[in-house]
Amino acid sequence: MKENMASLMAKDAEVLLHPASSITALLANGPDMITSAKGSTVTDANGRELLDAVGGLWCVNVGYGRKELADAMQQAAQQISYYHTFSNASNPWQVALAEKLLSKAPEQMTKIFFGSSGSDANDTIIKLVWHYFALKGQHSKTKMIAREQGYHGTSISTASLTGLGGFHKEFPLPLDFVLRTECPHFYTRGKAGETEEQFCDRLIDEVAQLIEREGAENIGAFFAEPIHAAGGVIEPPKGYYPKLQSLLKANDILLVADEVVCGYGRLGKWFGSQVLDIKPDFMATAKGLTSGYFPMSAVFMTQDIWEVMKLGSEKLGAFSHGYTYSGHPIGAAVALANLEIIEKEGLVELAGETGRYLHEQLQAEIGDHPHVAEIRGRGLIAGVQLVANKASKLLPDPAEKWPLKVANACREAGVIVRPLPSVGTIAISPPLVITREEVDQLVSVLKQAIDSVT
Ligand code: PLP
Repeated sequence: MKENMASLMAKDAEVLLHPASSITALLANGPDMITSAKGSTVTDANGRELLDAVGGLWCVNVGYGRKELADAMQQAAQQISYYHTFSNASNPWQVALAEKLLSKAPEQMTKIFFGSSGSDANDTIIKLVWHYFALKGQHSKTKMIAREQGYHGTSISTASLTGLGGFHKEFPLPLDFVLRTECPHFYTRGKAGETEEQFCDRLIDEVAQLIEREGAENIGAFFAEPIHAAGGVIEPPKGYYPKLQSLLKANDILLVADEVVCGYGRLGKWFGSQVLDIKPDFMATAKGLTSGYFPMSAVFMTQDIWEVMKLGSEKLGAFSHGYTYSGHPIGAAVALANLEIIEKEGLVELAGETGRYLHEQLQAEIGDHPHVAEIRGRGLIAGVQLVANKASKLLPDPAEKWPLKVANACREAGVIVRPLPSVGTIAISPPLVITREEVDQLVSVLKQAIDSVT
């Protein structure tokens, strides 16, 4: 492979279209080739080791290079490389995995549906919401509420839920089943003189007005990441979810927790909903389910949803939705081994502890920086909000590309962080096994990078 590397690097742009990437940058700089990884460290094609403080794309919860996961994959593949799960076909791994997942989930969750990605999990939930209400005779409850700066995927329906304009540009999106409401970020969306509590009440009032305007009989569900990840690592103000939840309940609108990033330990409990006092009707999960070792998603649903579907089945026959790779035996075997590691090594609790240390260190080292407005998040997710002028809360000029420049400076110094250019934020979401020494390295490199760029 080594001798080949230069030619592979050169060929990349000739043969590939990369996801969520700039072709111009690829043609100018070539690909960012990563060739191996272990723990929280990845190695590039030049043999340079980099601390990956993003865990790939917010997903490598147990760290890279786990032999147990490779073994689980190999054993399952040798026993049964694949068999589908349509028409009630099954395999032992998906049953064991569903049982394990339900034992960790909020108690109202009683059934699991498997897919391959975060996008397809949310896509499935949209269809389940439509199906559920149609079976109850409420055929018009087809619209979904989603928030500005939310991220729910890039399929046609989930890109529509996503509230980041970049994912709609030059596509005929968002589709009009989506109703948009405010991003719950007090720093950037709060009005002058407004307290955080008043901000929260205003947000809830806006949702109430939206429901009134559109008609509750036309709205099926509200999609929310417990903490917005790609939209800026934003936690809503205190009291937001309980108030939102009672408003939705009163209007017979379901609540969907998109736990694709927050799930599987990142916030210091198994799911973000358990941290932020959310009682969702559905949860979408993926990423940390297999720590990225296999593309797999799991949708969690309540008994109430399932009971309606059961009655519907008597009327309609099969539930006509699913994927070739739903409940894939290799994916389920890897997920089971992944969850076993999380349990055995106490990674949920560790994420809480190391997360507290990360936030303390970020606060201590850059909390007072003149160009750092906020350090957000909890557990092992953090967002560092850059600001041009702290007094006036003026955000950085996007043309100056501060987040990208900070991320590039970190990379030069051996640390990968994720720039979120549209919201002027640097995101951190490392493997849950990141050590305190690695946290120290990350914070010190980030401080120098912010100093050098701003
Ligand atoms: N939901 C959230 C909260 C995400 O962060 C992501 C991906 O980053 C998705 C959904 C989409 O997941 P995927 O890229 O696996 O389709």
